[in-house]
Amino acid sequence: MYKELNTSNRILMGPGPSDAHPRVLKAMSTPLIGHLDPEFVTIMDEVKSMVQETFITKNHLTFVVSAPGSAGMETCLVNLLEPGDEVIIGINGVFGGRMADIAERCGAKVHKVVVPWGTIISTNDIKKALDICPKPKLVALVHAETSTGALQPLKEISNLVHNAGALLMVDAVTSYCGVELKVDDWDIDAIYTGTQKNLSAPPGLSPVSFSDRAVKVLENRKTKVQSWFLDLSLVKNYWGGAKRAYHHTAPVSSVYALRESLRIVLEEGIEERWERHQKVHQVLKTKLENLGFEYLVEEQYRLPNLNSVFLPEGNDEALLRSILLNKYNIEVGGGLGDFAGKIWRIGIMGESCTLNHVNMLISALEDMKEFKR
Ligand SMILES: *Cc1c(COP(=O)(O)O)cnc(C)c1O
Repeated sequence: MYKELNTSNRILMGPGPSDAHPRVLKAMSTPLIGHLDPEFVTIMDEVKSMVQETFITKNHLTFVVSAPGSAGMETCLVNLLEPGDEVIIGINGVFGGRMADIAERCGAKVHKVVVPWGTIISTNDIKKALDICPKPKLVALVHAETSTGALQPLKEISNLVHNAGALLMVDAVTSYCGVELKVDDWDIDAIYTGTQKNLSAPPGLSPVSFSDRAVKVLENRKTKVQSWFLDLSLVKNYWGGAKRAYHHTAPVSSVYALRESLRIVLEEGIEERWERHQKVHQVLKTKLENLGFEYLVEEQYRLPNLNSVFLPEGNDEALLRSILLNKYNIEVGGGLGDFAGKIWRIGIMGESCTLNHVNMLISALEDMKEFKR
């Protein structure tokens, strides 16, 4: 017989998921109700309104895709793009590359702005791309590149993109509820995020939001969206509209969890939450540097909640990471792509962003005889 589920009590300090608040776990164990039950419809309305508050947007078309962050990415692209459309996509890590792959599958002509991993896409990079492709349908950027720990400035680029008559699409999976993000202020037209990073809810849902400008583009499509499940013209009536109609069955327990995690964010205050991530980051940074770690990203473009660091020379990162996990129950992330085997990605996201987490990690390293400073 298979044994009862009994996972170790891990401390999650990787690139996601982060530790969930007990209140969120408790919400998940609330008895199921039908997804068209009027009580559940109210819950969906509340979630939608809390997502608007935390995105800092009045966008009407704001809802939650019933699948993880990557599905939010795909929702934005398959709905906004039609075969033959030209797009500009910034690539400075894994997730920009994923956006380009999806856009190509939509039949779009993709102009890639590729810069070294760990750096950001500059306003000048976008200017140059617009010289080659002056009328793109959209420009897509990753706000917080989780594969490198770089924070992409958006405000100035937003003006440039709109002056060219294009839409600005943003991946906010790792920035949402962890660093400053203002959808309306920054004039972002399409945005998606995930639940398992700074929200500290289980993975599996993707809040998204579209500006009126983006909605016009959706309404003027000439071709059918290639994906049935992600087609906004069908799913939007499930999350809004006067009459709720069956589209798919929402993951009821996950929506409970998301609702509770959003309540926790709003209780703390969104700006207070951004500040907490900065403060804890400063403490972690000092302690890591004292142990000989070095940051990958230049200080002004560093994400506070995803710390990409080179280990002090002479350390076997994979060995240390496995000792951290198996002996100390602490998970940190390894590097991806060119940085595989070279860096750690230390997440302090949401509930995992406390001084206790920092102290547990640092004490474990100090205690570990295999770690060489
Ligand atoms: C985690 C992440 C995603 C994908 O989210 P999943 O929930 O893993 O599908 C997309 N973009 C960025 C920047 C991420 O960090």
